[in-house]
Amino acid sequence: MKITEQETLLINFLTDAELAEWKIYFSSRLPDLRLAAWDDASVDPLSVRYVLVWEPEAGQLARYPHLRVILSEAAGVDHILADTALPPDIPITRMVTPETAARMADYVTMACYMLVRRLPDIIQAQRHKRWAAHLTGGLASETAVGILGLGRLGTAVAQRLLANGFSVHGWARSAKTVPGVAGFFGAEGLSPFLTRSQIMVNLLPDTAETRGIINDDFLAQLPDGAGIINVGRGRQLRHDALLHALDCGRVSGAILDVFPQEPLPEDDPLWCHPGVIVTSHVASLISHQSKAQHALTIIQADRAGQALPLVFDRTLGY
Ligand code: NDP
Repeated sequence: MKITEQETLLINFLTDAELAEWKIYFSSRLPDLRLAAWDDASVDPLSVRYVLVWEPEAGQLARYPHLRVILSEAAGVDHILADTALPPDIPITRMVTPETAARMADYVTMACYMLVRRLPDIIQAQRHKRWAAHLTGGLASETAVGILGLGRLGTAVAQRLLANGFSVHGWARSAKTVPGVAGFFGAEGLSPFLTRSQIMVNLLPDTAETRGIINDDFLAQLPDGAGIINVGRGRQLRHDALLHALDCGRVSGAILDVFPQEPLPEDDPLWCHPGVIVTSHVASLISHQSKAQHALTIIQADRAGQALPLVFDRTLGY
């Protein structure tokens, strides 16, 4: 039987057991909202007001004429924009929670220490049973970290690195102030940003302007032996440029969490490169509790007629 009287939130990434837990969480907070799985045939498309999705099938979102908000299951929305039939006027919200920021700050701080203490070289020495007492590495307090993207996550990462004794500078499109962080902005700010980045952290969103931005010319401006951490999106980093920079020593190590194709193909040279550590897009995976809280906040704001937080700007592309 089809249900039309109740507003529905459709979710496309939960197991049955997880959905049951979400229903309990929502039932005491928004008792009139129905939660349903993506493929639940009993849901009337006319009742669907909200969807919470990861990589929805193309064309699917256009089936819901009363859709009010598309909630992305991730901070980026590139996995939704691939749908050419996407309804043009429905707001899309990004999933960035306090846990997202805390986990990202943990990951990047760990990665900075790994590069400062030369972990890629130490792992190679261990693989070859080579005692490497010379691999002492440097000091956090003598390392300048540059963060590409000073948004929600870049700012949280900057604050954590400062608290750990690193010196931190950042680059963004428009001027902003983060206490303790030297700021560089726009095209003219990029070179001075790069030349002082002993470790460069990429936390830019995936846009037409940022795709391929980390190329030969970009890497050539880093100090000799710089470290790279990519937690933004894979398409921003040219792998051919990175491999060249690693092989000629311009870059000493890279810790990569995101890739143009995920999973990273088995034959990709990055898997086995001695200077590279690969993680499987796990830098900032958050708990279901954090996701449910975020979804609740967005839906409550929409129902109250308030401005939605974290709306993707279709003009800026992030
Ligand atoms: P925000 O939108 O809050 O911040 C984006 C920042 O990038 C802003 O400072 C913005 O500048 C800057 N920026 C955008 N375009 C340009 C440009 N062309 N030139 C210079 N600066 C630019 O995003 P978040 O911090 O929330 O997230 C950043 C990205 O992190 C996400 O888009 C996602 O791709 C990635 N991510 C990765 C995860 C992982 O697990 N690996 C998890 C979560 C997110 P301005 O301040 O001037 O607008």
